[in-house]
Amino acid sequence: MPAHDVLIIGAGLAGQRAALAAAREGASVAIMSKVHPVRSHSVAAAGGINAAISVDDDWHSHAYDTVKGSDFLGDQDAIEVMCSEAPGEVMHLEHMGVTFHRNDRGEMDLRAFGGASMKRTAYVADITGQALLHVLYEQLMKHHETVQRYEEWFTTSLLRDEAGGCCGAIARDVRSGRMEAFTAKNVILACGGAGQVYKPTTNGLIVTGDGIAMAYRAGAPLMDMEMVQYHPTCLVETGILITEGARGEGAHLLNSEGERFMEKSAPNKMELASRDVVSRAEQIEINEGRGVGPGGVGIHLDVTVVPRKRTLEALREIVNLGKDFAGVDITREPITIRPGQHYIMGGVKTDVDGQTPIAGLYAAGEVACVSVHGGNRLGANSLLDTLIFGRRSGEHAAARAAGMAMPEVDANAQLRRDADAIDAIISRPRDGRRVSEIKNELGELMNAKAAVFRDEQGLQGALETIARLKEETDSAWIDDRGTVFNQDVLGAIELSYMIDCAETTVVGAIERKESRGAQFRTDFPERNDEQWLKHIDITLDGDGPQVSYSPVTITQWQPEERKY
Ligand SMILES: Cc1cc2nc3c(=O)[nH]c(=O)nc-3n(C[C@H](O)[C@H](O)[C@H](O)COP(=O)(O)OP(=O)(O)OC[C@H]3O[C@@H](n4cnc5c(N)ncnc54)[C@H](O)[C@@H]3O)c2cc1C
Repeated sequence: MPAHDVLIIGAGLAGQRAALAAAREGASVAIMSKVHPVRSHSVAAAGGINAAISVDDDWHSHAYDTVKGSDFLGDQDAIEVMCSEAPGEVMHLEHMGVTFHRNDRGEMDLRAFGGASMKRTAYVADITGQALLHVLYEQLMKHHETVQRYEEWFTTSLLRDEAGGCCGAIARDVRSGRMEAFTAKNVILACGGAGQVYKPTTNGLIVTGDGIAMAYRAGAPLMDMEMVQYHPTCLVETGILITEGARGEGAHLLNSEGERFMEKSAPNKMELASRDVVSRAEQIEINEGRGVGPGGVGIHLDVTVVPRKRTLEALREIVNLGKDFAGVDITREPITIRPGQHYIMGGVKTDVDGQTPIAGLYAAGEVACVSVHGGNRLGANSLLDTLIFGRRSGEHAAARAAGMAMPEVDANAQLRRDADAIDAIISRPRDGRRVSEIKNELGELMNAKAAVFRDEQGLQGALETIARLKEETDSAWIDDRGTVFNQDVLGAIELSYMIDCAETTVVGAIERKESRGAQFRTDFPERNDEQWLKHIDITLDGDGPQVSYSPVTITQWQPEERKY
């Protein structure tokens, strides 16, 4: 059985950063990913990464903006860690070879982003994630002697020892279908978010909440699951993201009357208010009949106000997206967008070193909830979150490993259980529903009932439908009966992970009887600090979710009314 000091599940930015940090501390490291690492969803990140690196900036200002953006639900100790360590991390990236955009003076250029009080987003055109991921992967190759890569291995469950600690994982080699148990002193989950729970979403097909569900099933608490971010600028037809960098460069949002309607809800920040505020403002325009395009379900994003030369240089990817996916040249005419699911602020509850309450189990990146984003994440703070807490988890796990022996694990029973479960899916009779049908219904349900605006009736209805979909998932059938690259069977497992994520999201949204950040309850339209300035934690109790609360850590910034 392969055995490692630190086993990292997920090879996006959080996972790769964790692997490099743990290897640097001298640990024997393995990193596992269900796709080739540079196909991890971090590659899609566009607009940039935040850090107070400008001479007239200060990390306290970055931290305050983040606290305010979170609608005061973010834990301020974690936010302080992230923002104070940000400049060093971005410089480290540059030293590793990331070609950040530079201004005419040769300094690192910074662009404006939503909710930020000054320009502090470093970027590589609008392909920042790709640039970062490839540089980290080069570094990983350099450490090939200490970092074992399991590329195209799909993790099915976490192993726990008799004392309840995490001591490894079970996985399937996607290429051959072979199952294997892996022993580890520590496991770091870096499996990304759960965007595919919604349809449409800006997230790729692989973003299916696997890490969240695996941790939940292993007994770890989830936190802030009700907080789901809708990004204000997604293409109407496909949900594809048009980066916030466009508004950062000066693009306007216009309703059918040609008005810059953000003046009503955010007169100071206008289009660069935080994402929850902008998405809600757009949805109000659409709901009140001032939308554009077929059915009036869109809003115009006008990039023509940005100098064409600058658009072609700094936003070239969305120029291509506009042409390829909407038939629009954004340098010459407005493009039609609307709010779309983009990010989940919630995830596996951790401390600032990535530790979950389960000994030996860590989480970092979008799978985790530290919580630095609270009720709403600021644009360009996620890449930062992945790197800071990926690194800290890797360092902490390596130090922990140094002081302990390799666990002795008999994983045969669990290995057999997971293998049998896969065989059972493959041989299911074709008399239930198809996996893809259930997935579509789930995504459309979530987008209708757990979106920008929510209410008790809609959420309760969603919970009932999820219960039915859960049952149907247990008998859903697939076409592929083979073992080699059987993505069909993995899709069935992913669907069961997504059901767990959907259920906990809706349970959290029902529980939180107020409006804060991305959760807007039309039946409880006000923020209520007295009763709800607290996190909602959800653990698996028997077969169902169990709700409890934990306090929000406040260090320097007392809650106040949020105005942009
Ligand atoms: C279109 C788009 C643009 C964005 N732009 C920005 C931006 O400009 N700035 C910003 O800060 N944020 C941005 N974000 C958000 C940010 O990109 C993500 O939150 C972040 O990259 C997530 O990184 P991660 O390492 O946590 O996960 P991911 O990059 O999603 O990696 C997850 C990894 O887990 C692996 N994995 C998952 N399940 C399993 C399993 N069962 N077994 C084995 N491996 C598994 C995957 O293979 C993958 O390697 C954007 C997001 C999108 C969708």
